[in-house]
Amino acid sequence: MQAQGMLNRPVTALPGIGEKKAKTLKGLGLETVRDVLFSFPRTYKDFQQVLEPHEAQAGEVQLLHGPLLHLRERPISQGRRLIQATLGGQLGLTWFVFHRAPGPSFLYRKLQRAKEVWVYGLVKEGTLFPEMASPEVYTRRPGHQGLMPVYPLAAGITNNQRVNWIKAALGHLGELGECLPEDLLGRYMHRHEALRQIHFPKDWTHYERARERLVFEEFFLFHLGLQRGQRQREGVAHRPDGELAARFLAQLPFELTADQKDALRQVAEDMESGRPMRRLIQGEVGSGKTIVAEYGAVKAAASGGQVAMMVPTEVLALQMADRLKKSLGPLGIRVALLVGNMKPKDQQAVREALAHGEVDVVVGTHALITDKVEYHNLTLAVVDEQHRFGVRQRAALLGKGNPDLLVMSATPIPRSLALTMYGDLDVTEIRQLPANRQPVDTRLIHPDRRGDVYRYVLSRVKQGEQAYVVFPLVEESEHVELKAAVQEMEALQGGLLAEARVGLIHGQMGKEKEEVFQAFSRGELDVLIATTVVEVGMNVPNATVMVIENAERFGLAQLHQLRGRVGRGRKPGICFLLAYSHSPQARARLEVVRKSNDGFFIAEEDLRLRGPGDLMGVRQWGQPYFRLADLQADRELLQLAAEAARELLSRDPLLKGYPELAQELDNYPI
Ligand code: ADP
Ligand code: MG
Repeated sequence: MQAQGMLNRPVTALPGIGEKKAKTLKGLGLETVRDVLFSFPRTYKDFQQVLEPHEAQAGEVQLLHGPLLHLRERPISQGRRLIQATLGGQLGLTWFVFHRAPGPSFLYRKLQRAKEVWVYGLVKEGTLFPEMASPEVYTRRPGHQGLMPVYPLAAGITNNQRVNWIKAALGHLGELGECLPEDLLGRYMHRHEALRQIHFPKDWTHYERARERLVFEEFFLFHLGLQRGQRQREGVAHRPDGELAARFLAQLPFELTADQKDALRQVAEDMESGRPMRRLIQGEVGSGKTIVAEYGAVKAAASGGQVAMMVPTEVLALQMADRLKKSLGPLGIRVALLVGNMKPKDQQAVREALAHGEVDVVVGTHALITDKVEYHNLTLAVVDEQHRFGVRQRAALLGKGNPDLLVMSATPIPRSLALTMYGDLDVTEIRQLPANRQPVDTRLIHPDRRGDVYRYVLSRVKQGEQAYVVFPLVEESEHVELKAAVQEMEALQGGLLAEARVGLIHGQMGKEKEEVFQAFSRGELDVLIATTVVEVGMNVPNATVMVIENAERFGLAQLHQLRGRVGRGRKPGICFLLAYSHSPQARARLEVVRKSNDGFFIAEEDLRLRGPGDLMGVRQWGQPYFRLADLQADRELLQLAAEAARELLSRDPLLKGYPELAQELDNYPI
């Protein structure tokens, strides 16, 4: 191909992909040929071994071959037929088919003509002999060497098409370099071979080896990204606490908790030392993390440095700037706000003030890291709610000077994961909640009583309080699901909550979203109906009631975060979990949240009950970076990759001797 290379071309370069299919593929996150190559099978069909009917083993997925006997078809309801047969009289077979027309169904006629068949499916225990329900059935031996890949489904795209595209893409593997250093290649499969084998494994052993290699690669790149540039430089040594810090601490309207005191001590030590601080403060919502950042800001300002505090949304930036103006302003510390929707002229003024050292603390969104922003002397970078930011954005902020870094996360991550996920960050946990904070009264509610719940919401609204209603939306990009959620939200707005002033937001709204948020914060709306977006740091002390619809569809850590939004003022909060699933597992999970108020405990339980691959909370912590890797199951590889990354960077911090690897890192989506 031309200089650009086939792999970097849009998917339309592949045979049979036009605009329409390209659009569907884009929905799956596949835009280039390379994306297609790196989207791996969901599972495989194992056609390697053909077994006799008597070898059928309950609990196994098998390909069995034999004569088709005892074939019959009967109607079971309007338009539905049941087809029954046996494979050699030793395996029961059933299929349900829709068939309204008179006469036998298409499948029945096809089977009637077949003397022998191959069936593929899960074998189950039966009454007389083992059975297969709705197996795939072939009248000739399914001809695929090795394991057959099965790709995630999308409307209008068949598995066969995907197989063909992958085959076409594999033809251009030569464009792809090996990104692992030589010394690791003795241990792991070569990249080209791994990509071939992950799509079309010769057998399970080859699959395992290919997967191991690619998972290692994912972790290795992830850790190189995390660790690169983290510790190589000298840091700033801030001054020990002086008058300004003393005044700041003296004016606090409350007694610090022991955990907060520990955190301040650690931050003081880090900031005063000449090593760069790289610290993560983990504490659940309302645990009082902001004080730690404020204290750091005071220390930086007292040493003549500047502070940049990056938060994920404009609303949060506004809230934070207001708060810092109140707490730090009286100490003579100059606080400014910098967000994208300010007038260009005002943004320009703030940028100039920053460059001239006329602002001490700037709070903002991504606007803080654009090329246009220059700092006079940035010595502390604070990243709040960090799981919303990529490693790259964090790095961009650090590149604005040589600052110490304080990352604050409200998602309590089990320590075991935190250590590996954050690579080189030191971790401080704030586990204690401030005294006199009342836990949110949490109730599991049967949907039969949904009407009562909303009547209760209205009664609190009548007393001047506010409420959140949250609907689950796992993939906000999925139009069908979004549409359904929006319909339900609107139904509620016009129905059970018709008497209240209701605002509605979801992830795909643009600017109006912030406006609705603002109206709710100002008390101009009584109820905010939302998809999960409220999770991010909203602080509306007047909100006391939270209703969570389809609570069983949320991760536990996420439920805990959500309910942390209420009861932040003087009145205690109440949270209703409406659960539409009655499975004992769903119940047991929700019971954990109902009974416990300890975010770390809940996160551990969630991890234990579901495993991280599945955990919505974990996806925010970085799961999207990994296509194959499973944080729990592949822990050992994660550890090995972290060590290998550390070792390599200590030898060659800028990866000068590894151009392929450096380039791969630039492509890496973090
Ligand atoms: P986080 O950022 O961890 O969610 P904040 O720092 O916003 O929590 O604190 C939540 C609220 O608790 C704030 O209103 C803060 O003033 C208050 N607060 C923080 N620490 C204490 C404490 N030790 N005692 C009482 N109230 C506190
Ligand atoms: Mg906070």
